[in-house]
Order: sequence, then structure tokens, then C-alpha cells
Amino acid sequence: MTSQPTPPMPAPMPTPAPTCSRCGRPRDTDQLAALAWVSERDERGGLSWLCPDCARTHVRDIEGKLDQSWW
Ligand SMILES: [Zn+2]
Repeated sequence: MTSQPTPPMPAPMPTPAPTCSRCGRPRDTDQLAALAWVSERDERGGLSWLCPDCARTHVRDIEGKLDQSWW
């Protein structure tokens, strides 16, 4: 009786881990943590990611700019 070689498992698609566009931190593999990441369309139509920490800072920046234009 010959043991048949098991067919190789199809390799899971290697998804490029997004990194924070500000601090370069790789996105958390944990799904819950990854949810806190913010995706943004950049000028070239690409998708850029911000880690929760940078997103918070970023939002503050935007609000700061908004405040200035509002006055
Ligand atoms: Zn970051």
C-alpha cells in the first residue's frame, strides 16, 4: 500500500499589512484593534492608513484647521 502524497495546501493569500502613514507602525493583526485604524484616500487614489494614535492626532489637526477657517 502506497501512501499518496497529500496535495499541498493552497497558501493563504499574503495580504500586504498596511502600515501607518505617519509612524510606519504595521496594522494590528487583531481584528478588534484593526477596527480602530482609519483608512484615508490620498491624492493619488491610494489607500493610506492611520493607527489609532496618529488618527487621534490627525483629527485634532483637522479640527484645528477647521477652527481657523471658521473664524
Ligand atoms: Zn501611527
